Amino acid sequence: MRQLYIDGEWVEADSNDGIEVDSPIDGSVLDEVPDGSAGDVRRAVEAARRAERELAAMTVFERAAVLDEVTEYFEAHEDEIAEGITREEGKPLEESYEETEYVIASSDDYAHDAIRLFGDVVPSEFRGRFAYTQREPYGPCAVISPWNFPLEIPGGSIYSAIATGNPVVFKPAEETPLTAYHVARAFDQSSLPDGAFNLVTGAGDTGASLVDHRDVRLIAFTGSTAVGQEIAKTAAERNAQCLLEMGGKDPILVLDDADVEHAAESIVVGSTANAGQVCCGTERVITTEGVHDELVEAITEKTEALQVGDPLDEATEIGPMVSERIQRTAVEHVESAVEAGATLRTGGDTDGRYYTPAVLDDVTERMDIAREETFGPVTPVIRAEGYDDAIEIANRSRYGLQAAIFTDSLERAHDAANRLQAGGVFVNETNNYWERLLPFGGYGESGSGGRYGSKWHLESMTQVKAVMMNYKND
Ligand code: NAD
Repeated sequence: MRQLYIDGEWVEADSNDGIEVDSPIDGSVLDEVPDGSAGDVRRAVEAARRAERELAAMTVFERAAVLDEVTEYFEAHEDEIAEGITREEGKPLEESYEETEYVIASSDDYAHDAIRLFGDVVPSEFRGRFAYTQREPYGPCAVISPWNFPLEIPGGSIYSAIATGNPVVFKPAEETPLTAYHVARAFDQSSLPDGAFNLVTGAGDTGASLVDHRDVRLIAFTGSTAVGQEIAKTAAERNAQCLLEMGGKDPILVLDDADVEHAAESIVVGSTANAGQVCCGTERVITTEGVHDELVEAITEKTEALQVGDPLDEATEIGPMVSERIQRTAVEHVESAVEAGATLRTGGDTDGRYYTPAVLDDVTERMDIAREETFGPVTPVIRAEGYDDAIEIANRSRYGLQAAIFTDSLERAHDAANRLQAGGVFVNETNNYWERLLPFGGYGESGSGGRYGSKWHLESMTQVKAVMMNYKND
C-alpha cells in the first residue's frame, strides 16, 4: 500500500482501507493506494492552513521558481510518467507524451503570467487619495481531478494555485492515482514550504470530505456535472470559491460549403482521441443536407481505418476505455439510439474494455445519445434543415463547452462564433481543441467560476482587493 504526502512527509493513512489500481489494458493490478479518510483529509487541510502564511509571504518570483523545480522533475522522469499514464488510463503512449509535453511546456507560461498578474492603479474620484488593486490568494485549495488527463488537468490547477499563493490538497481520481505520486515527489524535492502541497488519495467520499472542510476556501474541480453541482451546493454554504470544469455534449457543425475531407478528419480525431474520453470530445455532428451523405461516408471510412489495440504498441490509435462503468454508457447510448431508429454505420463491439469506434447516422434530438454525455468513441450524426437550424440544434443543450463549424463562408464563420453558446468556438478545426494560452471552460452546465489556461487560470484562483490611501488625511 502506498502512503499519503502530508506536511512535507510521506505518512501512513489512518486506516488500512485501500483502492486497487488496475490497468485497463489487461485488468492487471498495478498497485494499491490509501482510500483517504476524513481524518486524513483533516490532517492535510490543517497542514495547508499552517503553510498559508509562509507561501503567501514568498515573492511571486520565488513561487514561480518552484514551478521550474517541479518541471525539472517531470523532464527527468518523463518516460516513466508517460508510460505510467498509459498503463493506468489506457491512452496510446503518443497521447501520454502529448500530455507530459504539454505540462512541461506550460509551466513556463504559468510562471511568466503569475509574475505579471499586476493590479491596477485606479484614479480616485476624490483629491488626496491613492487607490489600487492587488490580487490575493483565497487560502487552502482543494484540487479534485478526473482520470482522463491525470497529469494535465490537475497540473494546471496546481501550478496556478501554488504560483498565486494558495496551498494545495490534491485528491486525484481513484482510477489514476499513480501519476499523482509523481506530482507529490516533484514537490517533495522542490523548495516549496512543507504543507503547501499535500496528496490525499481516495474515491468520491474523500473528495466530499475535502469539499466539506471549513478551511478549504477554493475548490478547483474537474469532473462530471452531477458531482460539480453537488460540490457547488456544499461550497455555497460557507461561500468557498469554486472553479468548476464539467461535462459536455459538444457539437461540430458541417455546412454544405465545407471541405468535407478536412471536416471528416477533424471529426474523427475529435470523437475518438483518448477513446472518446475527453470533456470537449466531439459528441454531436450536425450537418446540412447537401453534405450529409458524403460526410457520413468519409467519417465511416476513416473511423474503420483506426487501429484499436494495446496502447503501449506504437501502431495503436485507440486504446481501451478506462473502466467498465465508462464503457457501459457508450454501449447503452448506441444500443438505445439504434432501437429508436438510428443507423449504426460501423463499430460498437466490445472486447474487455476495448470498444470499436462507432458511427451512428439518423440520430434525432430525442435520443439520449444526442442529449447526454457519452464519453466514448462514438460519432452521432444529426441532420439539420439549414444553417439556422444547425445553430439552434447545437444550442439546444444544457452543456456548452466547445463547438466548431466547418464552412467556407467568412460571414457564417463570424456569425456562428457569435451565436454558438460555448466557452470556445473553432472554425474549420475540431472542437476537441485547446492551446496553452487560450482560456478553457464552459457555458451553461459545463462550467463556472472562471477559466483554465495560464493567465485565466491564475486570475480564477485569486481574489481582488481594493486598497485606498488617504494621504492628505482630510
Ligand atoms: P467524477 O465527477 O465522477 O469524478 C471526478 C473527481 O471527483 C474524482 O476525483 C472523484 O473521486 C471525485 N468525486 C466524486 N464524487 C465526489 C463528491 N461527492 N465530492 C467530491 N469529489 C467527488 O467524474 P469522472 O467520471 O471521473 O470523469 C469524467 C467526467 O469529467 C466527464 O463528465 C467529463 O466531461 C468531465 N471532465 C471535464 C473536463 C473539463 O475541463 N470540463 C475535463 C475532463 C473531464
